[in-house]
Amino acid sequence: MKKVALITGILGQDGPYLAKLLLKNNYEVYGLIRRYTNPNFSNLDYLGITDKVNYISGDMTDEASLINIIKTVRPDEVYNLAAQSFVGASWDQAKVTSEINAHGVLYLLNAIKNFAPSAKFYQASTSEMFGNSHKNGLQTEETPFHPRSPYAISKLYAYWMAINFKESYGMFCANGILFNHESPIRGIEFVTRKITDGVARIKLGLANEIRLGNLDSKRDWGFAGDYVEAMWLILQQKEPDNYIISTGETHSIRDFLDAAFNHVGIKNWKKYVKLDPRFKRPAELFALHGKSDKARRKLNWKPKIKFEKLVKMMIDADIKRLSKK
Ligand code: NAP
Repeated sequence: MKKVALITGILGQDGPYLAKLLLKNNYEVYGLIRRYTNPNFSNLDYLGITDKVNYISGDMTDEASLINIIKTVRPDEVYNLAAQSFVGASWDQAKVTSEINAHGVLYLLNAIKNFAPSAKFYQASTSEMFGNSHKNGLQTEETPFHPRSPYAISKLYAYWMAINFKESYGMFCANGILFNHESPIRGIEFVTRKITDGVARIKLGLANEIRLGNLDSKRDWGFAGDYVEAMWLILQQKEPDNYIISTGETHSIRDFLDAAFNHVGIKNWKKYVKLDPRFKRPAELFALHGKSDKARRKLNWKPKIKFEKLVKMMIDADIKRLSKK
């Protein structure tokens, strides 16, 4: 019999990559979608799997809908990827961010506990939970958390809730603490995609500037397609556990700009980049740099796509998309 997986956040970036992997592994895949006048399936279309997923309607903030979904789907594995995932917006909409990212997870865990208690649960935790905390410049599973945004705080609540359902009810609840991961279907407001879209537009003569906040922040950027493999592996283990998933390399936004403009043959890129205080965070995270030794050892996972290749992949996809238009 096919294993049944439920993915929340199916229309985002990671949902489609994960769905594609699970379909390849012969799963029956259900995707939770919110009610929209015009739902946007473009990320699933990009990966060519729109008609291979079963869609089920619900909302992370509506407990009754989650109960219904768990009762109907009876999943073997639940991947909770749904979130208000943009740190900037979490300052403007802190309450809704908490309702989706924190309380929504509690509702989902309760539904699983009551109606599919043997289902394995994956929680999409984030390196943002560390804030500026580090040891010798690196974050590991042992690094103390110090969240610096409503987004990070909401994710920390969900992280601990998953651990507490594991410890209190013996459920299989695991956290992937994922560092930034990107792809051609990354949300357009995120800095990497904003850069690749902007550089593609400049190259094609459709724009003449990119407005950004802080160019000196450093991030550990990987490829979403590699990171969803880690999510799946985390749920294939005998025991639930928490894992850092990262490349172990860190680059500044300036490095990203350099690689992106270089790829399209523009050397003197500084004239195209305008600093705009509106895009600065109220509380900055200076450097994220993850040590994913545990995942590499226990899950036998490692990232395949390197930084330069990731940047090129995103630029090429944006140029192709904009050229079509
Ligand atoms: P994303 O592109 O922003 O996708 C998030 C998805 O959540 C969207 O499909 C969105 O649905 C859905 N969603 C939002 N509110 C919802 C609600 N109330 N009910 C149901 N669904 C809702 O995020 P992503 O990049 O794929 O990331 C996946 C998960 O990993 C997120 O939880 C994110 O916080 C976490 N994470 C991401 C990264 C990263 O670098 N990408 C790093 C660490 C952790 P709509 O399409 O309907 O808006």
